[in-house]
Parts: sequence; structure tokens; C-alpha cells
Amino acid sequence: MSILEIRDLYVAVEDKTILKGVNLTVKGGETHAIMGPNGTGKSTLASVVMGHPKYTILSGSILLDGEDITTLAVDERSRKGIFLAMQAPIEVPGVTNFDFVKTAVQAHMPNDKKLRIGKFILDFESAAQDLQMGTGLAHRYLNEGFSGGEKKRNEILQMKLIKPAIAFLDEIDSGLDVDALRIVGENVTAMKSNDLGMILITHYQRLLDYIEPDFVHIMIKGEIVKTGGKELITKIDVEGYDWLKAELGVTELEEIRKPVSLGTCATKVPLK
Ligand code: ADP
Ligand code: MG
Repeated sequence: MSILEIRDLYVAVEDKTILKGVNLTVKGGETHAIMGPNGTGKSTLASVVMGHPKYTILSGSILLDGEDITTLAVDERSRKGIFLAMQAPIEVPGVTNFDFVKTAVQAHMPNDKKLRIGKFILDFESAAQDLQMGTGLAHRYLNEGFSGGEKKRNEILQMKLIKPAIAFLDEIDSGLDVDALRIVGENVTAMKSNDLGMILITHYQRLLDYIEPDFVHIMIKGEIVKTGGKELITKIDVEGYDWLKAELGVTELEEIRKPVSLGTCATKVPLK
């Protein structure tokens, strides 16, 4: 069972501070939902934990099973068990879907172990079938010409085969029709176990009807301003986010920001 700890994380992109003191702990077996308006930093949080070099960590830390991974490269984090299903998966012409996933799975194995290709082919086909992805998928180039829904299902296919310990699913429901949403929801729910901690980033209740979260966090302007249970989902669905202003006793959500003092940061770590 893994534990991801995000401690007081401040993150900037191009001199603009996006995350302003995020604290979040996710344990194996738990499913967390992060909701919040557009542009509030949800994807930034997922990208930073995965190690995207575009973001600068101004202060704070990210720990996996007690080890500080704040400065590790993306592939090292991935090998340690962190996974990101991207909001907008990229197309990689020239690399087949099958080769991509095979290489990724091999890279996650201990150096002295070799992938058993026969078994992997069966696992790949079975995962593709579970996700109702069609037979030609293995030999198509990674995400090239895939519909929005196919790209999202392909992220889940990778997750099924890579078997991460901590997974961020960033708006995995966007671009999915009702049937695809059910398929993704059922497949993700089937992966729930004590060996997997999940963070679902979403705007909508409908995904969370399929994948039940244990905790719901609301992120606004780079901070988690409220954490609760499933009751928050319905409230947001019906009332949006304005009620939070009243509850937090502020007229503008800007006011909840804590001052950022870059001069006193313990760690200033531009990720390479
Ligand atoms: P969310 O996922 O909650 O919609 P994001 O994390 O994608 O929000 O974005 C948070 C903020 O960071 C937005 O204001 C966005 O414009 C800004 N941002 C993200 N990436 C960049 C970038 N490369 N350059 C400048 N601003 C960025
Ligand atoms: Mg986003």
C-alpha cells in the first residue's frame, strides 16, 4: 500500500503562481475526487506530481512512501508507481499503441526480469476488450486519429497494464458519451484495491456516480478550500461554487489566498 503526501505545495508557471499551498494525502485503497472551476490549478497539481518540467516548484514537497520525490524525473516517478491519465493525451505518430504500452510495462519491471510477450499480448487484448476498443487498436499509432473518447479509454488501457500505485485521472470523463463513460467507470472501479490510490479530477457528478470517491476536495484558485464526502458533489452540481464564498466568509475568493513569500522558501526547485 502506497502513500502520496503533498505538503504545502506552491507552484508557478511562467512567473505566475498557480498552486498556493496545496496539502493532500492519498493512501492505497482510497479514491479522492478533486473538483473546482476551470483554471484553478487541478491539472497543474496532477502535472507537478508527475514531474512535468514546465512547472517550477517554489516551495513544499511531494513524498511517496516517505521518500521525497519532488526533484525526480518523470520516468523515475513513473517507475515508483505514479501515473497520470492526461486531460488531453498527445498523439505520437510512428509509435504503435502496442509498442508504447509494451515498452512502458517493460520499463516498470525490475532490471533482471523480462516481459513475457505471449502473456503480455493476451493481457493487452483482454484490456482492450474490457474497454471495448476495437481490434485494430494495437497497431495504430499512439492516439493518432483517435476520437476524444478513444484517447481517454486508451489512458485507462495503459493504466490497467502498467498497474500504478497512485493514479491521477484528469477529466477522464470529458469527451465521453454515456456508454463510454459507463465503460470507463466500470473499468476504473474494477481496478480499486488497497494497492491503488486514485485522484479523480472532474467537474461532473456523472463520473462520480460510476466511480465512488471516499473524499471530495474543492480546489479554488490554487488551494484546496474544502474537503468532505460525497454530499459535496451534489451540492456543487446543484449550486455551483458561489456558496463557498459565503461559507468561507469572503466576498471574493481571492481573499482566501495566503501571501506567498518566495524569499523564505526552503526549497526552490526548478524541475529539469
Ligand atoms: P484546471 O485544470 O483547474 O482547469 P490548470 O491547472 O490547467 O487549471 O490551469 C491553472 C492556471 O494555470 C490557468 O490560469 C492556466 O491558464 C495557467 N497555466 C497553465 N499552464 C500554463 C502555461 N504553460 N503558461 C501560462 N499559464 C499556464
Ligand atoms: Mg484541467
